[in-house]
Amino acid sequence: MPPIKLGELLKQKGRINETQFEIALAEQAITGELLGEAMITLGFVSHTDIAQCLAEQSGIPFLDISGYNIPEKVLHVVHKDMAQNMRFIPLDMSDGTLTIGITDPDNLKAVDKAAGIGGKPPKVYLVDADLFEEAIEKAYYFLENPITQGISRLISAMKSEASPEGSNISSLVDYVLQDAIRRNASDVHITPTQKTMHVYYRIDGVLQYGHCLPLNARQGIITRIKILAKMDIAEQRVPQFGIFSFNFLKRKYNMRVSTIPTLHGEDISLRVLIRSGFLFRITNLGYEEDDLQKLRHLFSKPHGLIIVSGPTGGGKTTTLFAALREMDLIEKNVLSVEDPIEYRLSMIKQTEASSKVGYTYAMAGRCFLRHDPDVILVGEIIDEETAKMAVSASTTGHLVLSTLHTNDAPSSIPRLTGFAVDKNDIATTLIGVIGQRLVRKICNNCKEKYALNPGELAGMGFPELEGVVKTAYRGRGCSLCNNTGYLGRTAIGEILLVDDEIKFLISSGAPVNILRQKANERGFKTMRDNGIRKAEEGITTFAEILRVIG
Ligand SMILES: [Zn+2]
Repeated sequence: MPPIKLGELLKQKGRINETQFEIALAEQAITGELLGEAMITLGFVSHTDIAQCLAEQSGIPFLDISGYNIPEKVLHVVHKDMAQNMRFIPLDMSDGTLTIGITDPDNLKAVDKAAGIGGKPPKVYLVDADLFEEAIEKAYYFLENPITQGISRLISAMKSEASPEGSNISSLVDYVLQDAIRRNASDVHITPTQKTMHVYYRIDGVLQYGHCLPLNARQGIITRIKILAKMDIAEQRVPQFGIFSFNFLKRKYNMRVSTIPTLHGEDISLRVLIRSGFLFRITNLGYEEDDLQKLRHLFSKPHGLIIVSGPTGGGKTTTLFAALREMDLIEKNVLSVEDPIEYRLSMIKQTEASSKVGYTYAMAGRCFLRHDPDVILVGEIIDEETAKMAVSASTTGHLVLSTLHTNDAPSSIPRLTGFAVDKNDIATTLIGVIGQRLVRKICNNCKEKYALNPGELAGMGFPELEGVVKTAYRGRGCSLCNNTGYLGRTAIGEILLVDDEIKFLISSGAPVNILRQKANERGFKTMRDNGIRKAEEGITTFAEILRVIG
């Protein structure tokens, strides 16, 4: 599709406005890149937006392939060269029907080819062009280099060695890290036990067992990772912290490493920092229409304080960035301080906090006030200084966005007052609190409906639903979801709008239960309510709501 046509299409579909279109043209004139690329670089659209837009236009359904693991049997049917040359990704195969993903709706050759392979007309989806190449590279790489076999081979090669080191150890560490990438894990845990060493991966918020490694490799593995992370290898008695980047298939993955001395040696935890760039739209987070309206209303305010609360890994930053994309970033000067920067959005001025040079959240916020801001994003309200800065910046006519670690939206209010910020200032500036958690979605490939047993819901902590809800959904477990029954995550949230009555309660120092009660009277729907609705609709399970909310 010629680039100019794509630009027009994005404009028609309301994904970009005229000004953005002109800026992209100006950028393209200087950089020489394609218009679509320029719009992506500028953060006006993402590859996903383009794919969704093309999908709408062509009538071919869109499929999100992030985190999708192509079944091995399909990879054997379609060779890598063919997939790359014909520009299609094989996704599944059943009863002679091949399912494929294409990035160009006019790629009829791929459709013909797929029909020829399966013998029946293929199921066709439009997929994100950015994920396309990577998904193909990853799938065929792991087909040719299976991890479990690789690890077993290294373990046998090292069997006779008392304390192996060198290339076998570094290959073993590579396999463990590559498997984290293959599984889309957010964290890797390498845990020494009495007789072995266990590797676990955190996937969609839950740990999954990975590998069992022999004792003789233990010290080698620990030392290798500590060297990579530039830690003191001689020091084994105190916890350490470090960072390194791991290169795999042309991509760089940043790893934050932490060690803890345990009974059986140093336990290692690695956080895989998710690659930047995959920006969500507010409509893709999992909020329902009435909540989306509330979110849009909140983020369109010219000043005030908005808090997103929830646990670590609860998608708080994702939500804030999705909300920023709703704003007109040409008309507004947006400054951010984060630790670390997770997403990149080129029209905002992002900075990274650094305790080494004393560039704290609070300091950044104060400096931003001299930089003609409209919107200030502060990574997290972590202390009194940051809380005071955030409140005072929002009293001076700016919109301040930040996050807090609290269990739900209403309890963010006592948390803020706990930072010794004046109650009246909070009442004046706070305009809304969004409480959010992420739940795993049931795998669509193995989803089934089942009849609930009497007492089952009550036993799980949903007595009000007992006898009312008679069926539920679950994932049986399949190769696509690693037999967990879940694939991907979605947000369950609650939005507390601070109206006059809530303001009055805040300034009078009302306890959280009174705040909650008043909010409920005002139509506040809790994230538990939201989760239950999602379980009833078969998006997630009741067990999952129980796991994340308790
Ligand atoms: Zn499944």
